[in-house]
Order: sequence, then structure tokens, then C-alpha cells
Amino acid sequence: MKLFILILLFLVTPFACAHEVAITFDDLPCPQDLSIEDQQFISESILEALKNFGAPAIGFVNEGNLYDKGGTEEKIAILKRWIEYGHSLGNHTYSHPYLSQSKAEDFQEDVLKGAKISKKLMQDAGFSYKYFRHPYLDTGSTKEIRAPFETFLKKENYTIAPVTIDTDDWKFNQKLTENPENKEKIITEYLAHTQAKFAFYRAASEKIFGRNIRHIWLLHANLINAYAMEDLLKIARELEYNFIILDHAMEDEAYSEPDNCYIPYGVSWLYRWDDTRGKVIDWSKDPELN
Ligand SMILES: [Zn+2]
Repeated sequence: MKLFILILLFLVTPFACAHEVAITFDDLPCPQDLSIEDQQFISESILEALKNFGAPAIGFVNEGNLYDKGGTEEKIAILKRWIEYGHSLGNHTYSHPYLSQSKAEDFQEDVLKGAKISKKLMQDAGFSYKYFRHPYLDTGSTKEIRAPFETFLKKENYTIAPVTIDTDDWKFNQKLTENPENKEKIITEYLAHTQAKFAFYRAASEKIFGRNIRHIWLLHANLINAYAMEDLLKIARELEYNFIILDHAMEDEAYSEPDNCYIPYGVSWLYRWDDTRGKVIDWSKDPELN
């Protein structure tokens, strides 16, 4: 009997220790050079896929895009759809500048200007509006740039939304935009790359922390994700990831690790923590570079 219970426990355990990932989308409502119809198509396709998998998400908005080339009402309606589907909105600045290349006051002004609509939409729906995502993941190339900006964020009650899994969707989206006739091939490559990146970051997390931390996945509201979202979620599920809200991911103590890595562009926080602790990961094996 005891042996039977032991075997049963052994069989059940793998399901009990599933991995966790929060899904985040940058550049909402959508890149500004697309028609309103295309922007609606992208948004609705992503929302539908998320719904089918019961996956919560947060979208980081560039409110400047709402006013660029008209269609403001329709674009605000897109943001409302994200909230109707139960997702959150966060601040990604008004005009998507680099923190390290901006004057401190100008950048802070851009952050405040970028919250006007989204904050109200979130509050009207009874949600708290609190997350900030750096454009280009540029968190400041020096301590002198980063520290005062983080003090400003704290004063404005923002929490920084880090990224641990970056599957380079924007690069594949660019390829797709330039070669729409190769759509199937590009999507196949994108899905394989996503799988490789998930495996790489899991191994990196296990090496740094001795466990697979709760991850935060960076995606964008773009065309390739409109086509591939169901398959992306399927990949994550097959790798035994549960989809969680950002608040839950951020409760992982990994997110209070010090980050003294002053690289002003898109690297995973796993890289930042590893760099701060004194590298144990061979980052030349990152599938991004291969
Ligand atoms: Zn962005």
C-alpha cells in the first residue's frame, strides 16, 4: 500500500510544480503606421487567443500613438477592449523615447503625459494603474540617469515591470512586414525561436537562482503575434507554464535582486542579475545571437 501511495505521489508531483509566466505586451494600441482596421484585427486576434487559454495580460501603452494620424476614438476603443477582456494597462511613455538619451525633465514629462487616458480607463474599471515599462528596456546607462528616474517613479507610485523572457517578436514581425509572401516560413522560425528562448531562460534561471523563477514575457501588439498567438500560448503550455498576472510574478523574491547592470537597451533581467552577481551564464549561447 505504501509503495502504491509513493508511486502515486511520484506521478502527481510533476503537475504540482508547473512553471509560471506573466504575459506583457508593449506598444499598445499598435504600431502607428497600420490602418485602424489592421490595428483592430491585431488587437482582437491577440485578445481572442488569450481568452481561449485563460491567460491574463497587461498592455503597455504609448498614448502618443492615439493621436498620430487620427482615429483617436477607435484607438481608445481598442484599449477599452483590453480592459473588457479583463487585462490591465500600464505606462510605456507618451512617445517612446530612450531614457539614456533624454533630458531627465523631458522624459519624466513624457511619462506623465503617457498616463492620461489609460489611467482613467483602468480606474473607471476599478483597477489600479501602477506599472511602468521602459521603452527599449533602456533603464539608464549610468547610475546618475537611473537613480533620479527611479525616485521619480516611486514618487508617482509606479512599479517597474521587468522582463525575463524576450522572444524577439519585433524582429520576426519586421521580417514578416518586409516579406509577407514568406509568412508561413517566418512564423515557423518564430515559434522555434520562442521555444529555444524559453529553454535558454529556464536554464539560466535555474543556474542563477537554483530554480525556475516566475517569468515575465515581453511581446508586442503586432501582426506576427496576431497570427501566432494561439501557437505561442500552446508552446508555453506544453512547456508546463501556467499563465499568471504580473502582480503574482512580481511577488517572486527574484524581483528584489539588485540590478547594477547599466546597459541602455533590451536585455533580460536575468542578464542584469547575472551581471550584477558576477556572471555564471554563458550568454554567447543565447539563441538571440545564433
Ligand atoms: Zn516599446
